[in-house]
Amino acid sequence: RPRALSGIQPTAGSFHLGNYLGAIRQYVALQETHDAFYMVVDLHAITVPQDPAELRANTRLAAAQLLAAGLDPERCTLFIQSHVPEHAQLGWIMNCLTGFGEASRMTQFKDKSAKQGTDRATVGLFTYPILQVADILLYQANAVPVGEDQRQHIELTRDLAERFNTRFGDTFTIPAPHIVKEVAKIYDLQDPTIKMSKSASTPKGLINLLDEPKTTAKKIKSAVTDTDTVIRFDPVNKPGVSNLLTIQSTLTGKSVAELEAEYEGRMYGALKTDLADIMVDFVTPFRSRTQEYLDDPETLDSILAKGAEKARAVAAETLAATYDRVGFLPAK
Ligand code: ATP
Ligand code: MG
Repeated sequence: RPRALSGIQPTAGSFHLGNYLGAIRQYVALQETHDAFYMVVDLHAITVPQDPAELRANTRLAAAQLLAAGLDPERCTLFIQSHVPEHAQLGWIMNCLTGFGEASRMTQFKDKSAKQGTDRATVGLFTYPILQVADILLYQANAVPVGEDQRQHIELTRDLAERFNTRFGDTFTIPAPHIVKEVAKIYDLQDPTIKMSKSASTPKGLINLLDEPKTTAKKIKSAVTDTDTVIRFDPVNKPGVSNLLTIQSTLTGKSVAELEAEYEGRMYGALKTDLADIMVDFVTPFRSRTQEYLDDPETLDSILAKGAEKARAVAAETLAATYDRVGFLPAK
């Protein structure tokens, strides 16, 4: 079986609909075809200030949501990044292989540091794509399910893997991004020209999966559309309507063309009401499943402990080979 690897940050409160459609749904699907490793990336979370107690709670909450979304610990390996120290260890080696200019070209850093003020951005935020390289290469991953915003980091991963292999001999599998075009970028409900994002969206533009279902319905019903009346998929001229069609199509399995036919001659209100109902039907069981995992921390922690053990076995093997190739003297 080919390998898949992905990581998601422990967000405060809840994952959002963009995370789910762009990334987590693909995690669930790839369990069937891949030897899949998924982790909550707490090392990445501290690239911006975190309250320790909140970080711990959010890490559990993230794992609970991944399980609620359909990750099955019998069919994939789910773990917490800091439970596998090899990530930081290989991260250092990758840091020493990356050019300063090369790292400076990462647009995520430019965007995020601009938002925080360049003086307040940490070196950790600057090098986080390089830690991500280590995350992926440790598992010899073939496929990396992510949203469009992560494409550049997967390119960096490929470059560094090739560089290492050329310099030190074949060590790493060259990974490829697994990006599902239709849902690679879910847009903000209030400003459908920007991506739905936990850091850039306003509360009304962002659908949190753990919001009260009533709130979710309200946000969908007040989504920004346009002054036209036709329900047609046209991302350039009708970004708001197109975003709603994409979301409905993905959640129901109906094609966009089918939906266009279904809504012919009907008003935007009908599309929004239907989608609000669909979303409520989706988030209601998701919320209760998440709560069940949170109410049973022993089960959750034991799933994560088993996951870490499975992950470490693979990571330790890759790290040992890497240390050897680099020329580190083995400890006796
Ligand atoms: P931030 O704004 O802090 O970057 P985010 O909202 O982008 O946060 P992340 O934790 O960075 O959330 O993303 C987790 C995963 O979800 C990544 O694979 C990312 O590509 C994907 N993702 C995030 N937002 C979207 C979106 N709007 N559409 C599709 N995929 C998304
Ligand atoms: Mg992001």
